[in-house]
Amino acid sequence: MNEGVLDELVDALRCLPGVGPKSAQRMALHLLQRDRKGAARLGEVMVRAMHSVQHCQQCRIFTENTVCSYCSDTSREPSQLCVVENPADVLAIEKSTEYRGRFFLLLGQLSPLDGVGPKDLGLDLLEERLNSGEVTELTLATNQSVEGQATARYITTLATDRDVSVMQIARGIPIGSELEFADSTTLSVAFEQRTRL
Ligand SMILES: [Zn+2]
Repeated sequence: MNEGVLDELVDALRCLPGVGPKSAQRMALHLLQRDRKGAARLGEVMVRAMHSVQHCQQCRIFTENTVCSYCSDTSREPSQLCVVENPADVLAIEKSTEYRGRFFLLLGQLSPLDGVGPKDLGLDLLEERLNSGEVTELTLATNQSVEGQATARYITTLATDRDVSVMQIARGIPIGSELEFADSTTLSVAFEQRTRL
């Protein structure tokens, strides 16, 4: 391996999840040998995305605006709020279910041992939202891992303290699995059969 910028490229590629030194090297060489155009585009779009994509101020979904298209869509029911962990979960729910309320994105799970507390998940923002009185029904579509369940319990308390009814999507989703990998029928049924907590 040469020195300088090539090493830097290999090192930079390692910021991608699951990419170790060997695959980073393979990727760098592939881009240099076979796809310089693609690499240039990747670099350019990456810079633009990092500069312009931010969290929606209301639901934390990634957006180029201060408020995302879900939150600004007046045809969506503002009294219904669905709490999910990942952006991919929003897309999965949109694709597979009839749900047409609003979303709130946690981007993680409570995990005190890893230093992830309520604020890191925007739960102070969620609390404000619930305080506004706009939301009457909250649906938990969080994953069923141990941390996911702890997060769900925390949110349930926030909501019930404010007389907001809480529903949880049914357990058709296998325990410990990620929502985004559920097939759309399973997710659709789980959403249909959500139960009041
Ligand atoms: Zn939003």
